[in-house]
Parts: sequence; C-alpha cells; structure tokens
Amino acid sequence: MAAPKKETTKKTTATAKATTAKKTTTTTAKTPAVKVAAAKAAATKATSKKSATKKETAAKPKSSSQEFKKSAGNPNTKTPRQTTTEMPIVKRTIKPIPLSELPPFPISKKPDNRQNFGAIWEILQQLYPKPDVELDFETPFEVLAATILSAQCTDRQVNTVTKVLFKRYKTIEEYANANPDEFGKIIYSTGFFNSKTKHVIGSANMILKDFGGKVPETMEELTKLPGVGRKTANIVLSRGFGINDGIAVDTHVKRLSNKIGLSEHEDPEKIEQDLMKLAKREEYDDLSLTIIFHGRRVCDAKKPKCDVCAIQDMCPSAFI
Ligand code: SF4
Repeated sequence: MAAPKKETTKKTTATAKATTAKKTTTTTAKTPAVKVAAAKAAATKATSKKSATKKETAAKPKSSSQEFKKSAGNPNTKTPRQTTTEMPIVKRTIKPIPLSELPPFPISKKPDNRQNFGAIWEILQQLYPKPDVELDFETPFEVLAATILSAQCTDRQVNTVTKVLFKRYKTIEEYANANPDEFGKIIYSTGFFNSKTKHVIGSANMILKDFGGKVPETMEELTKLPGVGRKTANIVLSRGFGINDGIAVDTHVKRLSNKIGLSEHEDPEKIEQDLMKLAKREEYDDLSLTIIFHGRRVCDAKKPKCDVCAIQDMCPSAFI
C-alpha cells in the first residue's frame, strides 16, 4: 500500500495549479489588454457539443472544462462577430514573429515556430487558466490504473468504470490478487480489456514484489511496470506525486505540436524533448493538459476550428 504521505490527492495538485494560474494572471494583468472577439455561433459550436453530452461535467465546478472560454478567437478572425455575446479577453504582451520570417525545420521544411512559443503559451494559458486532469483518482496507484485504462478510451468512460473499480479494489494487494475475469468484466467498456487487465494486475504485482508495495516515484522505475511508457509515467509522476519530470505526449500533444510548429518529429519522445526545451519544468504538466484541451475543444483532428482559434495568426497550419 502506498504510504499516506505520498498519496498526493488530485485536490492538492489542483490547489497548487490554481496558485500558479493566479500568479500568471497577476503578471499579465499589468499589461494592456487586447480585446479578442470570437463569433458566438462558432464559439458555441466549439464547446456546445461537449457540454451537451457531458451534463455531469457541467455540474462539476472542479473541472477545467468550466474554465474554458466559450469563445477563443483573435482580432483577425474571419468569422463575423456576434456582439451580443460577452467577449473573451486575452492579453498579448509578447509580439510574435511573423510566420513568413521564421526559419524552416531541417527535415519537414515547415516553419519552425518554436521562437513563438512564448507568445502562443501566453494565449493558451489564458484560455485554459486552471488545467486539471479529467480523470478521477485519489491515490498514486489509482492514477496509474486510470491512466492505463484511458488508452483509446475517453476520460468520461474511464471515470464511469473506475467509480466501480475503485470501490471493488482498495489496496495494491487487492489489485495484485484480483481475479482477471472479474477485473476484465468491470473494465470491459474501456476497450482492450484483456491487455489492460494484465497491465494493471501485473503492475500491482511488480509494485509489491520489486518496489516494497509503493508506487515508484522515478521515470526509470515506473517504465519497468507492464504497459507503462513515458506518457503514463509522466502522468503518474505529475498527478500522483507532483513531480514534473517530463511532458506527457498523447495523441493531441503530438498532433498539435506538429501543427503549431513546435516540433517536426513524429516520435513522442522526441516531441517531448522539444517541448521540454521550451517550457519551464514547473509548467510541464500544465502544458500537456493545455494542449490536450485545445486539441479537444478547438483544434479537432478532423475539423480544426481555425476561425475561432486564438492562435490562428501564429499557427502555420491555420486554415490548411
Ligand atoms: S490548425 Fe487551426 S485550430 Fe489548430 S492550432 Fe492551428 S489555427 Fe488553431
């Protein structure tokens, strides 16, 4: 069983993040505000689909999705303004380098936009001021289990499953001794339930056998657990222990890093290395979550909403 002092709760992490966000807001508030308009219809489109199908999320004040601005545009938006709605405000204190003046990446020859990271990050931080993980958990092992279950599955579905799972199994010993058939039935709806069952039960057994019954707190040790790569390990470290060792690169982070021009690599580990050179260590987890939110809510894989995207003027992939 993980020692109580190491069972950093989600609430604690969220509080720390709220403090960071507050500091950021305080800093930017000293600068002139630039009013950024976005069309009501387009903005609603960007968020309504999610909120309409996620009633429980709307009811939970803790989720960062409530912090997401209903509009996310910029002054150059091509969408007609709807002045009847409340305009979101973002502040621009960093002047971006025009895309035409950026050097190309060596391999892809696309614009290397890393010099504009500061300007892009400044905007994204305002749009998603308190990014918080949408998975529910209480202990480091539950972070690990939930993250393993989240592969190829929505956070909402994982939360539905873990609501039952976390009541049925409370200790790492109980996970290690779980009946695979019973376990598989509980997590069935998350998909790939056979391999996920093996990974969760196998991780519990390895933690008991090799790590003294405590979820390890290093990248090297965590990645020895079955089914745990750098992405999962980064999530466990940051959200389970408050350790920012790296940046979790999921499908959204990978896709948007390429689109925005922050990395030209396809390999998640290389993308992580590129992003780690841009962000401060204490921002690693927030950066990953922020990019994920922007990918889910604005920069959709099939239909990116460039017309209401607040960083469209700094994005080499806008309207392409
Ligand atoms: S592709 Fe479009 S939606 Fe995505 S980040 Fe660029 S401008 Fe925004």
